[in-house]
Amino acid sequence: MSEQAPLPFYRPAVGEEEIEAVVATLRSGWLTTGPRVGEFETRMAALAETPHAVALSSATAALHLALEAMGVGPGDEVILPSLTFAACANVVVQLGARPVLADVCADDLCISPADVEHRLSSRTRALMVVHYGGQPCRMDEIERVLAGRDVRVLEDAAHASGAAYRGRPVGGLGDAAAFSFYATKNLTTGEGGMLTTRHAEIAERARQMALHGMDRDAWKRYSAEGSWYYEVTAPGYKYNMTDLQAALGIVQLRRLPELNARRAAIAAAYSERLREVEALRLPTARPEVSHVWHLYPVRLLPGALAIDRAELIRRLTGRGIGTSVHFIPLHRHPYYREGWGWSASDFPVTEGAYAGLVSLPIYPSMTDQDVDRVCRAVVDIVREVS
Ligand SMILES: *Cc1c(COP(=O)(O)O)cnc(C)c1O
Repeated sequence: MSEQAPLPFYRPAVGEEEIEAVVATLRSGWLTTGPRVGEFETRMAALAETPHAVALSSATAALHLALEAMGVGPGDEVILPSLTFAACANVVVQLGARPVLADVCADDLCISPADVEHRLSSRTRALMVVHYGGQPCRMDEIERVLAGRDVRVLEDAAHASGAAYRGRPVGGLGDAAAFSFYATKNLTTGEGGMLTTRHAEIAERARQMALHGMDRDAWKRYSAEGSWYYEVTAPGYKYNMTDLQAALGIVQLRRLPELNARRAAIAAAYSERLREVEALRLPTARPEVSHVWHLYPVRLLPGALAIDRAELIRRLTGRGIGTSVHFIPLHRHPYYREGWGWSASDFPVTEGAYAGLVSLPIYPSMTDQDVDRVCRAVVDIVREVS
């Protein structure tokens, strides 16, 4: 076949502007949490249209601190989709609460409001909704299902910087939200995350717990003691973001509309070119959302080809095309399967989707030729095994 260089699954969209911003931060002498973190928080709060944003070391930290600030603890249940990254359930367990896994909708692979209704109990304290692949969940239906109950909504917006639901940006659709700026995400700081919320109490608690439980207000109250004084009022964590990360994030945030537009153009090209491939179910955007296309997950339909998903991935790899799978459902991981007793039959839609899921490469630096190469590889492989 070709001697072309491999096309990786992901390449970060970091350019000269980001590099200069990080170098300028290094030269400024302020390396850890400082003025750039403050500016990044202000800008993320504006993006999410929320009054508060707390910059953190990861989305995992944001999920953890949001649930902690919501008071989730032993005896509580948190409902979340099985089709997500392990961090979502791990933080629930770390707080001593029980993760209750739910199925997804067949069209968008976001949590199913009907299944959430089915899993609610008197112990449900919070619901974590994952805006899968960059498409916001069905928030109106979720609100209807939760009506009259004291259940907090936490958005996992790890895939969804810049996405919107009925014209409202993600990050402000629930009680709190967690953004990820991990290297592969559509806005990156290398590693990093952000908690956004409309509740001052959640923001304050998260800010305190992100830095050893140090109480800033106490610090201010006793300012007569001088700048060396602080009080620890809870056993907090070390989850703060650095100015080096924030410098990168500020540039990425400015470029976000352009970066997301390129992703959308690639998704449109894939959908146009792969429409003819009957063995694949392609991702779609619901009409009421602004989808940011962090992922382009196709589903190989059961029995459609003489090969399975694993072989499809092998053949794409053989042609130098990187892929991934989002996600291995949580109920399939040994810890959740054995420790919490979940089984595949509890999640029929997730199981059906997972069997065929393959995420194709989608990132702003892909050229039209790269997109063409992926489409040709898929079409050729399908033709070989039809
Ligand atoms: C990446 C990811 C996370 C975790 O993000 P980190 O910033 O790496 O902690 C959480 N949820 C989902 C759905 C993700 O894809």
